[in-house]
Amino acid sequence: MAKEEKHRPRMQRRTPVWPAPDEVQALMGDVSGNELNGWNEPEVRQPTPVMWANPAKLAHGDMQIRMTEEFVAHPELHGVLRMSDRHEPLAIAPEQTQRSSQQWIAALTEFSAGPSGHGVELVGVTQPQAEWFFEGRSSEMPWIVLLAIAMDHEQLATAPEHTSAIEVHKQYNRGTSAARALADWFRSHGFRAEGHGGPGAGPIQMVPAAIQAGLGELGKHGSIINRELGSSFRLAAVLTDAPLTVSAPDSFGVDDFCFGCRICTDACPPDAIAPDKRLVRGITKWAVDFDRCLPYFAESYGCGICIAVCPWSTPGAAPRLAENMLRKQERRQARESESG
Ligand code: SF4
Ligand code: SF4
Repeated sequence: MAKEEKHRPRMQRRTPVWPAPDEVQALMGDVSGNELNGWNEPEVRQPTPVMWANPAKLAHGDMQIRMTEEFVAHPELHGVLRMSDRHEPLAIAPEQTQRSSQQWIAALTEFSAGPSGHGVELVGVTQPQAEWFFEGRSSEMPWIVLLAIAMDHEQLATAPEHTSAIEVHKQYNRGTSAARALADWFRSHGFRAEGHGGPGAGPIQMVPAAIQAGLGELGKHGSIINRELGSSFRLAAVLTDAPLTVSAPDSFGVDDFCFGCRICTDACPPDAIAPDKRLVRGITKWAVDFDRCLPYFAESYGCGICIAVCPWSTPGAAPRLAENMLRKQERRQARESESG
């Protein structure tokens, strides 16, 4: 039986579950975010925006407004909130620079890692798929470049304190600046390009794109785990028609590890992380319970506890864990081939 088909009884939590205050729970209304997200739906479809878009158009827009108001009420948080600033993209150069796809990858990686590219830690490339775009959104661009922006784990580990929220938003801001700089760089070479950074939702879900682009695997906490950075990073993206080539997806045993680990499940105050995978819009995968997560997320300036406590996020731990998991996989494969 495949692991995702097992149904295991939930173990007793070691910490009590956070009770959402009535006035916060009331903002959730009658609409289930899990239903909007497509829980138990067998068909693949485009995701519905549930957060970080125009609150007037969101089922839980009141919760987003409350969270924004909380940010604005604290000057140190307000200072890093940069959701609405504007950027005028560079004009597209009339002549296209000629390079092979491999040369483009090398050049964009070098640009992104440098000071003009805002010191992006990791880059991956893939072809955007229709089901990654939010409802009503699409793009003619044949390529998407995913940028991984590392967070300072010491600051992230203070979650849910302000220090962590400030670090999260600083790195979102760096990611947005990096995506815009890379898009301008493509345009200066004669290609169309548009940059997108968080926390605004933008046109496309970045996590599935980043997984396909080789930046990691999905963890039980619903975030991506990278073999160098763990979950201590944010994503930004550039859609472009420059002639690129795909990065290979990466697999280093995260799925196996998560099946045997319950650190994020136990640490999540509202108990929003289940021990098993779920069917979501046609794909069985790890999925956080949005309806349980959102009230705490909104009350704690973006929470982040689950990615902070994940053992892969501890500085220096991810490469060692990836190595261990690969050795484990090799031993299992050897046993299977011996037993025929
Ligand atoms: S962000 Fe916080 S509330 Fe949401 S799943 Fe992670 S730990 Fe739980
Ligand atoms: S804390 Fe454990 S179960 Fe949760 S995502 Fe990290 S490795 Fe997986």
